[in-house]
Amino acid sequence: MGVDCEILFSTGRELSEQDEKILAWRLVEAVGRRFFYPERPFHRLHSSSEMYGTTATHEINSLERFYGEGYERGHWPDIAAVITWLRLNFPNGQVWYGGDTGEALTLITDQFMSETWKHWAEHGGVPYRDNGRGPNCCGAGIFINAWHGNRRGGYCPVCAKNYWITPGNGLEPRDSN
Ligand SMILES: [Zn+2]
Repeated sequence: MGVDCEILFSTGRELSEQDEKILAWRLVEAVGRRFFYPERPFHRLHSSSEMYGTTATHEINSLERFYGEGYERGHWPDIAAVITWLRLNFPNGQVWYGGDTGEALTLITDQFMSETWKHWAEHGGVPYRDNGRGPNCCGAGIFINAWHGNRRGGYCPVCAKNYWITPGNGLEPRDSN
């Protein structure tokens, strides 16, 4: 089981049911359907619920994995697109972001966005912990991109071979996918 991304927001203004439907359509049109649950891209929270200690009024119905330092699994450019769309369309609202682990969410700021973009540009989807690298092939550590139980696998971008890492920290060829 992985950590999914959690995006909550407040709109900073009243929305009619029709406004919500039109905005929902525009968000899907802008970001793409695959990011969202098919039924609707966001839903209104009950006014009594203070999810994750926020004052959010709405929640994004996302299918995406979380992306963050130490968990480089989700697709940050799509997550950032949703967050940016919300911030620009609801300039008086707020956006919170995090994983669905029950921990407090982060209130989005310009600084958080630029730091996460920087982390993404440096590390992309390569695990940050352990440097994301395995035993050497072609003179450099393979990039870890596969997990199976306790087993980890990786990819050598130089010779394009895929490997499993053996318990003795050796390399064993594996079929891609
Ligand atoms: Zn190689």
